[in-house]
Amino acid sequence: MKNTTRTLPIKDHFILPEGMIYLDGNSLGPLPKGTTARLGQMVEDEWGDHLITGWNKDGWMDQPARVGNMVARLIGAPEGSVTMGDTLSVKVYQALSAALKMRPDRRVILSDNGNFPSDLYMAQGLVQQLGQGYELRVVDPEEVAGAMDDTVAVVMITQVDYRTGRMHDMNAVTQAVQQAGAVMLWDLAHSAGAVPVDLAGSNCEFAVGCTYKYLNGGPGAPAFIYARDDVAEIMQPALAGWLGHDAPFAFEPDYRPAPGIARMRVGTPPVMQMTALEHALSVWDGIDMQALRGASIRLSELFIKQVEAQCPDLTLVSPRNAAMRGSQVSFAFTEGYAAMQALIAHHVIGDFRAPNIMRFGFTPLYLDEDDVLKAVDILAKVMRDRLWDTPEFRKRNAVT
Ligand SMILES: *Cc1c(COP(=O)(O)O)cnc(C)c1O
Repeated sequence: MKNTTRTLPIKDHFILPEGMIYLDGNSLGPLPKGTTARLGQMVEDEWGDHLITGWNKDGWMDQPARVGNMVARLIGAPEGSVTMGDTLSVKVYQALSAALKMRPDRRVILSDNGNFPSDLYMAQGLVQQLGQGYELRVVDPEEVAGAMDDTVAVVMITQVDYRTGRMHDMNAVTQAVQQAGAVMLWDLAHSAGAVPVDLAGSNCEFAVGCTYKYLNGGPGAPAFIYARDDVAEIMQPALAGWLGHDAPFAFEPDYRPAPGIARMRVGTPPVMQMTALEHALSVWDGIDMQALRGASIRLSELFIKQVEAQCPDLTLVSPRNAAMRGSQVSFAFTEGYAAMQALIAHHVIGDFRAPNIMRFGFTPLYLDEDDVLKAVDILAKVMRDRLWDTPEFRKRNAVT
């Protein structure tokens, strides 16, 4: 990492369509400048010219560990504790199953109802697969610590709620969970690149997250998985793929796990996606996460203040206290879907989450206060003039 700290925003590092205000970097980050060229070079020079030798010559095989180290720096994890691959849903499954094996006399996965559905679905699938009395228990976010007992093997929660931005206190929850003898698994989907995270300091056993949201790795970018160093040496992977084997090219008939976090690799890494991500992560050199958090709070507070002043029909559903919020702000409105479609038609991009939530992400790498003020002006016009009230904007698309 460079020693110089950069001043935010760094808009010139991104391709942002002219005239668009992008408040959806919490769902899919924009294209960093230079990614297209880097990908073109990888395809032509590495794949095209080097073919199979690229695995060694171009460092493709080490890429999951190398990119993992770049992610590690952004989430307070030590070098060598993070690897990349697959999708977040798969990484949730791997971490959950490894955590359950660490507490064989306990049968409960505990989560909260603010979690993203895929995390809960993966837990449901795993529980069904295991049988033997395993179960998923889901409580209100405020009740996680109070729901601990000696049946809970692992607690799996997403730090920042995807709908409201409500943020769990990572250290406090981890401590309560571990005091009750359970294993802690954090999902950092809306934390990595959004808020400062100190994984090592939290002492949690596992963490997972994705890289196409605040980390700008592009659609389908690989997920990450972290395990605490002592855990990484004893964990047993449920998805025992050849690239998580101690000696993949010995082609032994029986599985032996690779040392440490590398055993959470499964199969052939997506080299093109990994290359796009590696380039996107270089943008973070010299970014101070505390400064980023300060800017994120300033933008979010400005947005809330202006929306509440200008859009009386919208109700804040994110925590009002900035310290309890991630880097997104949500408002409820009965016709939220249509209102968001109208807003998007006016080049302010946010997204909609059922049943009635209009969600806006604040990404200080490429947003400033002027963008926020302009976005609110347009939102206020959409609301005041009921621009959303048309059949066209009420029609639901497959992806909301
Ligand atoms: C975005 C998100 C996912 C998506 O999982 P994929 O497998 O990458 O599609 C899962 N969990 C949480 C908490 C998310 O925010």
